[in-house]
Amino acid sequence: MQDSFSRVIDYLRISITDKCNLRCIYCMPADGVTPARHSDILRYEEIIRVAAAAARLGVRKIRLTGGEPLVRKNVAFLISSLRKIVGIEDISLTTNGILLGQHAKTLADAGLDRVNISVDSLRPQRYREITRGGDLDTVLAGIQAAEHAGLRPLKINMVPMRGMNEDEILDFARITINTERHVRFIECMPAGSVNFWEPGKYMTTDEIRGIIETLGPLSPVKVRTNGPSKYFRLPGARGVIGFISALTHHYCEDCNRLRLTADGMLRPCLFSETEIDIRSAIRTGAPEEEIERLLKLAIAVKPQGHMLGRLSSSSGAPRISPHAVKRPMSRIGG
Ligand code: SAM
Ligand code: SF4
Repeated sequence: MQDSFSRVIDYLRISITDKCNLRCIYCMPADGVTPARHSDILRYEEIIRVAAAAARLGVRKIRLTGGEPLVRKNVAFLISSLRKIVGIEDISLTTNGILLGQHAKTLADAGLDRVNISVDSLRPQRYREITRGGDLDTVLAGIQAAEHAGLRPLKINMVPMRGMNEDEILDFARITINTERHVRFIECMPAGSVNFWEPGKYMTTDEIRGIIETLGPLSPVKVRTNGPSKYFRLPGARGVIGFISALTHHYCEDCNRLRLTADGMLRPCLFSETEIDIRSAIRTGAPEEEIERLLKLAIAVKPQGHMLGRLSSSSGAPRISPHAVKRPMSRIGG
């Protein structure tokens, strides 16, 4: 399946809930966001129908995300059903890790291949502040359980923020020296109605990379990956370091993905508000051809790229409107 710019689209990110058990400062307001109505959230059989249609069109990889995907009941059932779809080769999950200790083995047994775990601080009190209440030890136990269950390579996502956790960038980078874990640094993006994002807190990949290179030069490595990370290795390190630079190093030319929101909207680009309602089609008894037509339409309208951060201000920081993406990441499926 190719879009109008000859990009092969083989990756579907499925948000299975917009609810979350944390309230990360850059993602959600303190009192959360009004969740979609329960009846608007796609049921598992509806998600499976979209995924099967996408697989017929060439999608090979699926990632489950949210909100926090593990707050939804019986994710293992969904994974085992997705596993049975002909053509699906890879199933992964992005989680904050809080519930992973309880579920890692069941998820792996159901057919999950890998997990990405978001951790923005390795200091318990700071982790609690950034997530507004999360318990770091629970997440660390979740990481261990995931590795024990064979969910490897384990990827850790960190969003560096100036004045918040920038002094931990080296601690995160050092994780890759003695373990095979991937540590990925994500540029903070302006999303949702959170009054958090401002250029002062935002750190560019180049800045983050400069800090990490005080440990040694980073050599580029080729990692088979579904996403936009660019990977590097510190001298002698077992694991790798990735950078996801939505704002400063555009990865749009390699974009291979389509998103399905928890309330059944196909979203061709994270940064574009264009959404295609596939839920209504499913619920009004549309035939398979119509589901496939909507998927093809979503791919046909996929923009060439987003414009965020294209203009640089005199300070060198990208000039971006504070809420460039209207839906919060928790409601899109980050
Ligand atoms: N709850 C799960 C988690 O935290 O991993 C999955 C959903 S979360 C929206 C997915 C990823 O998006 C996380 O790694 C999170 O750090 C990232 N994210 C959320 N809001 C972001 C923002 N404004 N800028 C950059 N990354 C963001
Ligand atoms: Fe929840 Fe993930 Fe958003 Fe944090 S980043 S509030 S864990 S959805």
